[in-house]
Amino acid sequence: MSSSKTQHLVADQTGISQAASLLRGGALVAFATETVYGLGADARNGAAVAQVYAAKGRPSFNPLIVHVPDTDSAQKYVEWSDQAQMIADAFWPGALTLVLPLRQGHGLASLVTAGLPTLAIRVPNHPTATALLRAAEAPVAAPSANPSGQISPTTARHVLAGLDGKIGAVLDDGPCTVGLESTIVTLAPVPTLLRAGGVPAEDIEAVLGCPLAVPTSDTITAPGQLASHYAPNAKVRLNAKFADFGEVFLGFGPMKSDLNLSEAGDLTEAAANLFDYLHRLDESGKPIAVAPIPMTGLGAAINDRLSRAAAPR
Ligand code: AMP
Ligand code: MG
Repeated sequence: MSSSKTQHLVADQTGISQAASLLRGGALVAFATETVYGLGADARNGAAVAQVYAAKGRPSFNPLIVHVPDTDSAQKYVEWSDQAQMIADAFWPGALTLVLPLRQGHGLASLVTAGLPTLAIRVPNHPTATALLRAAEAPVAAPSANPSGQISPTTARHVLAGLDGKIGAVLDDGPCTVGLESTIVTLAPVPTLLRAGGVPAEDIEAVLGCPLAVPTSDTITAPGQLASHYAPNAKVRLNAKFADFGEVFLGFGPMKSDLNLSEAGDLTEAAANLFDYLHRLDESGKPIAVAPIPMTGLGAAINDRLSRAAAPR
């Protein structure tokens, strides 16, 4: 986490190109969208995405929404369908997020989707957000730009009240017009409303010509608490000093292991590697022993995810 001062950028050409180069350099930039101010990070950069959780003080890794400037860009990251096209034609740019299967070769950090095989993606309807996304030439992961558990920010002043000194910059473009989070819809296996938001469900049903299903325990339990969160098939044993016979070992800090979340003991690096390494060890088909991870900073979210992976199923 950066302790230097957060830049307050005006949303003119200079400010937008400064914000874009900060994003490209791996820094966090809060920016105006029509819904609320988003806390943006280059979605391909695992360390930058880890910083989002650190800056917000999020106690768990729930997947983030990726923002792109147009429908063509979205198709680089997700598997597109006729239904997706209908929704995009009707509501993009706008306050609607689509959840679709990740596309092969997407290049996004696994922390963005919290290890899920699907991605939440949106084209915002805001000239500054669009200009920033084009200038950065990067998919931008962005949850609301507020400390975890606090109210979503609709002005740059709100953002600075919560995150000053913890992020690279805020791109100020006045108050947000919608002031509500985006509606989230998943299309597989059937069109389902995951979160109510800026676009009314009825409008989406009118376009699809069918009612939206409501989430079951299979899709979502509480906001940000997906039951479908990635869990390894293998048995997971926590706070292990070393691997028992037949186990693979996920290390942390200087130690012998099959994969090491961070040999330097850096929690940001560990967070960025977490889902990718769990997937890789899971592919071995062996039970996974995990070294102790400190509870400080991002360690809380890492341990939250690990303890869910280790919980009896
Ligand atoms: P926020 O970024 O704070 O607006 O929250 C993003 C919301 O999108 C959370 O409620 C997440 O659980 C949800 N979300 C993000 N990615 C996915 C996904 N792949 N599947 C289902 N829900 C998702
Ligand atoms: Mg939020």
